[in-house]
Amino acid sequence: MATLVMKFGGTSVGSPEAMDRAARLVARYRETWPNLVVVTSALAGVTDALLRAAREAVAGDMEAVRQIRRRLEDRHRAVVEALLPQGTQDPVWFLIQNRLDTFFRLAEAMAVLGEATPRGLDAIAATGERMSAPLLARVLEVRGVPAVAVDAAQIIVTDDQHQAAHPLEEPTRARIQERLKPLLAQGQVPVVTGFVGATEKGVTTTLGRGGSDYSASLIAAWLPADEVWIWTDVNGVMTADPRLVPEARTVPQLSYREVAELAYFGAKVLHPKTIRPVVEAGIPLRVRNTFDPDGPDTLIVRERKHAVPGRIMALTTIPRLAMVIVEGRGMLGVPGVAARTFAAVAATDTSVLMISQASSEQSICFVIPEDTVEGVVQALEDTFQRELARRDIDRIWAMEKVAIVTAVGEGLRNTPGVAGRIFGALGQAGVNIIAIAQGASEVGLSMVVAQDAAQRALQALHPLTQGDAV
Ligand code: ADP
Ligand code: ASP
Ligand code: MG
Repeated sequence: MATLVMKFGGTSVGSPEAMDRAARLVARYRETWPNLVVVTSALAGVTDALLRAAREAVAGDMEAVRQIRRRLEDRHRAVVEALLPQGTQDPVWFLIQNRLDTFFRLAEAMAVLGEATPRGLDAIAATGERMSAPLLARVLEVRGVPAVAVDAAQIIVTDDQHQAAHPLEEPTRARIQERLKPLLAQGQVPVVTGFVGATEKGVTTTLGRGGSDYSASLIAAWLPADEVWIWTDVNGVMTADPRLVPEARTVPQLSYREVAELAYFGAKVLHPKTIRPVVEAGIPLRVRNTFDPDGPDTLIVRERKHAVPGRIMALTTIPRLAMVIVEGRGMLGVPGVAARTFAAVAATDTSVLMISQASSEQSICFVIPEDTVEGVVQALEDTFQRELARRDIDRIWAMEKVAIVTAVGEGLRNTPGVAGRIFGALGQAGVNIIAIAQGASEVGLSMVVAQDAAQRALQALHPLTQGDAV
């Protein structure tokens, strides 16, 4: 029997109306997919509020924490009252209050200590999904859809890298099978908390912000499922972020490689880690709009039908970056400069988004998040103290307030003329290209531009996109 995993994002369960729609979609698709697993995010904005509360607690402002708690209670109460006939007499309301109490106690502990550990932050951040999943399950139940909330701490086993935990394949696969298969066999719909995991010892972890997409793809890969659907608040993956380019259109089909590149280079619509598990299992993934379920959507597959190499499918951007430049004519003779540069950066725990072309003078440039730049430059100056003194390296500096703009499409890098069209359009719009990516995957072409030119760059390039052409 065909198995489907569907994931609802925060806005898709963020209000009584949204959760009502989500529940109706589950009921509707259960008719055609008897084995249905639901993964849900927290109500929109809840994870942000929880983490903000943790910061307030550390700063000693428990009044702010109390206010956040009240607001969270109100948000959930609104759904309980609108969608459950017993309202706040429903047992799930007590469970939600319990979760909020636990959250509040954790915040109090942080206030006493004056510090928040990554482990404590994960316990707090997981509270959102630990309320939304039981709530959605209950809404389904009262509508006659047999549903059971499942805390992903029972099935997603991770390492202890809190806030960006890495799932361990063997135990997770086994737990997914043990816990979800029997529920499906009984005709139940498991409603799993997205984003959440736990270490082998049972300590709560999270998979990183936006990680519910990843939860869904892990469950799909290791169940395994026949398809995964990501329900969100836009009509699938579009030619650009519709918030930045209002003319953006839905891209009906993308390859795994294309969507991985888009996600990596900033398209928030899918968490970057979502793709790998489903690629390996060859499971098709759909991105659909909860608020327009019969409207256009995106299907992500191994090979795109009618793929025309060199077509720009979509554009994306990452803001708030800095480009670090290590330069000096003497560098040519110094062995291992690149290795030492990136070792020094890695030691600061910063991930490098893009490494760019050297100029005529010997130099190494790379792009990192803006808020890490100070530490990175310092680490490089320490590493190259001797070379700087000898003037083998002239300067280590950073260009701040830059953004990466990426065009994505199969064969983009190898098709003559594409780069010309891109640079031409940017030139006409008066956008200066600071650097171009080197050696990235052939499905993407990334450029560094000034932060305040990024939106202009997207708009100038958007007429070149043909993601919706079949
Ligand atoms: P969810 O809460 O459902 O996970 P997210 O906010 O994480 O939703 O992701 C959906 C958002 O991603 C959209 O509202 C849109 O603004 C943004 N986005 C960025 N790039 C794209 C793109 N290329 N296509 C569609 N949406 C995009
Ligand atoms: N609720 C989590 C977040 O806001 C995970 C998710 O929504 O995907 O990051
Ligand atoms: Mg998301």
